[in-house]
Amino acid sequence: METPNRPIELSSTITCPECGHAETETMPTDACQWFYDCKGCGCVLKPKAGDCCVFCSYGSVACPPVQAAGACGGH
Ligand SMILES: [Zn+2]
Repeated sequence: METPNRPIELSSTITCPECGHAETETMPTDACQWFYDCKGCGCVLKPKAGDCCVFCSYGSVACPPVQAAGACGGH
């Protein structure tokens, strides 16, 4: 594991579990996003139990704090 400065991916494609609509969003680097309004059906997504944000639950890429540290920084 000699990749100390892995580039952090800031784009994550969220797939709605209700309607299957996928939308690519840019993630904030310093915060976890708890709610996400699906642009397909309008439902509000929330993280699954144990996940720190909607990107970890429904996104194609985990949120930046998780990418950097391997875990979310203590929320
Ligand atoms: Zn939806």
